[in-house]
Amino acid sequence: PVVLGIESSCDETGAGLVRDGQLLGHAVASSMDEHARFGGVVPEIAARAHVSSLTPVVSRALTGAGLRMRDIGAVAVTTGPGLSGALQVGLAGAKGLAYALGVPLYGVHHLAGHVAADTLEHGPLPDPCVVLIVSGGHTSLLLVRDLARDPILHLGDTLDDAAGECFDKVARVFGLPYPGGPAIDRAACTGDPGAVAFPRPLTGPRDAPYAFSFSGLKTAAARWAEQHRIRGARLPLADGAAALQEAVADVLTRKAVAACRVYGVGTLVVVGGVAANSRVRALAEERCREAGITPRVPPLRLCTDNGAMIAAVGDLLVRAGARPAPLDVSVDPSAPLEYAALHPVARA
Ligand code: ATP
Ligand code: MG
Ligand code: FE
Repeated sequence: PVVLGIESSCDETGAGLVRDGQLLGHAVASSMDEHARFGGVVPEIAARAHVSSLTPVVSRALTGAGLRMRDIGAVAVTTGPGLSGALQVGLAGAKGLAYALGVPLYGVHHLAGHVAADTLEHGPLPDPCVVLIVSGGHTSLLLVRDLARDPILHLGDTLDDAAGECFDKVARVFGLPYPGGPAIDRAACTGDPGAVAFPRPLTGPRDAPYAFSFSGLKTAAARWAEQHRIRGARLPLADGAAALQEAVADVLTRKAVAACRVYGVGTLVVVGGVAANSRVRALAEERCREAGITPRVPPLRLCTDNGAMIAAVGDLLVRAGARPAPLDVSVDPSAPLEYAALHPVARA
């Protein structure tokens, strides 16, 4: 069947249509501009934007795929983690559609969606694979097996800030526009990554090999900017951005490749909004190549939040024979990533 995926966990309203692992069409609307003057996502503004965007986004996805409402055979929706009000808008819409169409509903973990996004570009994930998930709110190294059935093993997570959060907060200190990640990436183009020696947190021999920490790096970057300001000197923005990006990309890819080596895994998948970063992408490819590991990074449009990735998980669940979610299912704003779905398929 055609699976409609709905995503509304943060400031993107996404709808995607997937059948048998193939992306048929998708559309995304973002309320990012409405949050810009506050320097971060305002939950109530995000929720209201989902209310007005959801129906048009679903229509656009259908039109793009050349499909009609009655072609939808199942609905998958993000139930968490994310902003409570934002999630509830998407879930209410998904329940309404599933009920009206008489098709099953599946509750999907947002981060599993980020992982599954790559399957729409590169095909089924090898079992096992190491996944580096780097987004606005999360930074984790995972050992992923069968997304529809198996628990997801956390090799390590960030102990404090997520990598995307580090980019967003440092960008603010640098005076760059919101959202900070893409702004840092653009500013870094003309900079020298070796101009500032920013720290590489938790990379010492005694440190947890797969844990991350970005708050110290954030502070180091803020202090570097502050020192220029005190001296009344112009901030060498491009160099600062390039050096920060280099530090983040270095730590992320070093640990991810080490995890592949130690666990004897031949594929590294890098997903989430920060996988859109040009240096993270380039360094992941380079270090994987050196280590004889196959790198998989989805195209930019599938890295940041979208509905196609949620449909991709729904499609895996449908094909694995998962039990649908009841219509009284609730959102879980702080859902831990244990399984890809609310109702994974039981292992025989
Ligand atoms: P989560 O998935 O953890 O719930 P989220 O959904 O808000 O968080 P994503 O949409 O996956 O996050 O990613 C957004 C993050 O990605 C932001 O922190 C943003 O700055 C960052 N980002 C996007 N593009 C780039 C880029 N080119 N370079 C660095 N960071 C980027
Ligand atoms: Mg967003
Ligand atoms: Fe996300």
